[in-house]
Amino acid sequence: MIASERGEVGLAAGIGLLRAGASALDAVEAAIRVVEADEDNHTVGVGGLPNLLGQVELDASIMDGATRQAGAVAAVTGFPHPISIARAVCERLPQHLLLVGAGAERFADEVGIERGPTLTDEARRRWRDGLSAAGIESAEARFGPGERAYRQQVIERLASMGVPDGPWDTVNVLALDAAGNLAAGVSTSGYPWKYPGRVSDSAIIGAGNYCDNAVGAAACTGRGELAIRGTTARSVLHALAADGDPAKALCLTPDGRHGGASTVPGATYSVMTAQDTTFRIEQRRQT
Ligand code: ASP
Repeated sequence: MIASERGEVGLAAGIGLLRAGASALDAVEAAIRVVEADEDNHTVGVGGLPNLLGQVELDASIMDGATRQAGAVAAVTGFPHPISIARAVCERLPQHLLLVGAGAERFADEVGIERGPTLTDEARRRWRDGLSAAGIESAEARFGPGERAYRQQVIERLASMGVPDGPWDTVNVLALDAAGNLAAGVSTSGYPWKYPGRVSDSAIIGAGNYCDNAVGAAACTGRGELAIRGTTARSVLHALAADGDPAKALCLTPDGRHGGASTVPGATYSVMTAQDTTFRIEQRRQT
């Protein structure tokens, strides 16, 4: 299994399942659930930073390399584990692929996925500090995040701010099981102060996530709008098929080779195999 930065906390759980003969899909879901539960991770799950209005909206997707079946959800609130909702879409609504917002939440309730709090005190503090830095503290104090006047003021300020510096991040987990099947999963809270309803590449199959046993698994972190425009995960697999080099985005091949690439100097990813007792960190190629 391999994971993007801060995904290493989930690898032992996934590898434990693979050692017991579970599928790559099971391992990916289990690993990502650990990351989603990590309150110290402010870009995924319960600790994720909220949108413009102070609501944590989560996106996730999962893809099975054996069948190329996939499931995804976007802009989900009130559920700490969107990866499990995405898996349920894949397996229990196979004529669908992507559910968003209220529909995704309704489906999650119907299939019995647990609700839970997703805005931690620390995430709320960081959210408010970011608004203050943009000069909109007084608006929140005067109107509160639910008010129309507040929203208009915030939107005007944010539109003039450009894309925030971060934290930007997501978790990618890719797994190869004993049967030779690959799976890929991605989960994110998106970028902080995003416009409500914004959907990231993490929920878009082909952009932030793609998996095909014939070629490999690939997933992305970083500015989702760029990965959507470039259909990056799918494009990376086309390039992998052409040159066999997995050091692109985050990649795992059907014969267990792996690699990562990043525009960020010093970026890394983590690796753990069934023979390992813990993960190790690998450098990404800088592009
Ligand atoms: N890809 C995620 C998004 O666009 C964030 C990230 O990976 O930094 O929301």
